[in-house]
Amino acid sequence: LMGYVGFANLPNQVHRKSVRKGFQFTAMVVGESGLGKSTLVNTLFNTTLYTPKEPLPPSAERSRTVAIESIDADIEENGVRLHLTVVDTPGFGDFINNDDSWNPILENIESRFDAYLEQENRVNRQKITDNRVHACLYFLQPTGHALKQIDIEFMRKLHNKVNLIPVIAKSDTMTDEEILDFKERILSDIAHHNIRIFQAPTYENEDEETITEAEEIASKIPFAVVGSVQQVNTPDGRQVRGRAYPWGVVEVDNEEHCDFVKLRQMLIRTYMEELREHTNNVLYENWRSDKLVSMGV
Ligand code: GDP
Ligand code: MG
Repeated sequence: LMGYVGFANLPNQVHRKSVRKGFQFTAMVVGESGLGKSTLVNTLFNTTLYTPKEPLPPSAERSRTVAIESIDADIEENGVRLHLTVVDTPGFGDFINNDDSWNPILENIESRFDAYLEQENRVNRQKITDNRVHACLYFLQPTGHALKQIDIEFMRKLHNKVNLIPVIAKSDTMTDEEILDFKERILSDIAHHNIRIFQAPTYENEDEETITEAEEIASKIPFAVVGSVQQVNTPDGRQVRGRAYPWGVVEVDNEEHCDFVKLRQMLIRTYMEELREHTNNVLYENWRSDKLVSMGV
């Protein structure tokens, strides 16, 4: 082929290299106890990272601060390896006074930035591990009202440091109409308080299919989710992941029933790389330059 330079194969090269190295992704979950965070993580990655815990009796000694726990898993799909870290934040919002609940979470995110910066400054930068948090799923209680003070506070303190993805927890406890109303109120609160949530980037000259997909995903924010790794039988004889009720079955993977599929697209299937890039190019970069300025560099 005259004049064919061959760089059209670059995407494949990148792909091959990434496949060999594997991918690293860190997701954080934040929200009050019992909102289904652990269940949703299991549902998203189709694993049992979390095994069900017995609920604590009311008298049991509970921690008085927000704890930060992280779980690692190597998962593989069609020969592609993903090193996944889930950062959980038990205790958030569970106290009588939740004023500073966001603080240990912010500190954790920044200490991961610090660890990255330290690796960048090393003489040998061959093997940098990226433990920065690439996305934060923020679980909203399915109240149907509006954002609570703690939600606003958390998102305002964190939106410059992490890609925020708000989700409506346990959306099977609300009717479709309640969900639509609630979403509208959440979005207007988010706008009113100038909170930035993660928006998938759009590029010029993109094909219609890609644009439609992006719009469909964006239209579901905040995602109304249902989590379950149980297989249940539907009245018409299918086996699905879902939650069974006397009145019927809520199917996790059915887009008529909830936004789980769209959330998974946002987080994993379509925008994982964008989440990683935005973390590196914008969130981390801003943090880093602020830090250097504050150190007088
Ligand atoms: P976490 O404390 O936020 O990690 O919540 P868990 O994932 O441990 O779930 C707490 C309880 O809520 C468990 O009994 C789950 O079975 C239940 N649960 C989890 N997800 C959902 C959901 O989407 N809908 C409903 N109705 N219940 C859920
Ligand atoms: Mg949990």
